[in-house]
Amino acid sequence: MSEAQTETTRAGGAQAETTSRSVLDISDLQAWYGPSRALQDIALTVRAGELVTMLGRNGAGKTTTLRAVVGMVPRRAGSIIINGTETIALPSHRIARTAIAFCPEDRGIYASLTAEENLVLPPVVAAGGMSVEEILTLFPGLRNRMKSPGTKLSGGEQQMLAIGRILRTGARLLLLDEPTEGLAPVVVQQIGAAIAGLKSRGYTILMVEQNVRFASTVADRHYVIDRGHVAETFDNATLLADFDRISARLSA
Ligand code: ATP
Repeated sequence: MSEAQTETTRAGGAQAETTSRSVLDISDLQAWYGPSRALQDIALTVRAGELVTMLGRNGAGKTTTLRAVVGMVPRRAGSIIINGTETIALPSHRIARTAIAFCPEDRGIYASLTAEENLVLPPVVAAGGMSVEEILTLFPGLRNRMKSPGTKLSGGEQQMLAIGRILRTGARLLLLDEPTEGLAPVVVQQIGAAIAGLKSRGYTILMVEQNVRFASTVADRHYVIDRGHVAETFDNATLLADFDRISARLSA
């Protein structure tokens, strides 16, 4: 499809350009942990500039889908096309070079390193990554914490650092796993503003989120994952119009 087919969408108050060009195209994705199959046949598309979420109950396969995309599951099959390149047979270090980055649920901050050392740790995979100064502008709360060890950072600071760290690498497709988990409402708001800012800069984002309300403030579209399948997909206007019923069903 042509990049000329550009539409303007509104998400979380941020005006952002999305195009119909696919950045991530997943079809018939299966994944296993040992003999146990966690993903049955995931099919999902994320277009350039979109923010798409995966919603669903615990154990549904959302994290495994993100891990499978970056090659971090023991075994996977199917098709994962990133920016036009089939990556299903590639090792994770080659997948990273397609300018994709994964921010895990546990945030992965090294306790023995300072915030600054954590920030500059991951290798740059593509040109155009954010400078440390740009990251500190996006997350002003980190500015005075750069010399603090990882252990001394709050959950919110760790989350900001974990997102900031992948922005330095030059990745333009961001996989975020539950970025608001365990955070106070005021910090959730800060994370939401930063994510909306990334979207308005043209980043493409696939995010796992348990907090449906938060998801509805930043996303364009949603996939509901259930027992390793896509159970349902809808746009954000549909979620907002039917919020109580959909969120009750997701938490039932
Ligand atoms: P949650 O929010 O609880 O993480 P999820 O939708 O992200 O839920 P996954 O973590 O992807 O779900 O888990 C999908 C299935 O794979 C579950 O049955 C889970 O028990 C299993 N699973 C996840 N990680 C592992 C692992 N390292 N080894 C074995 N099984 C796993």
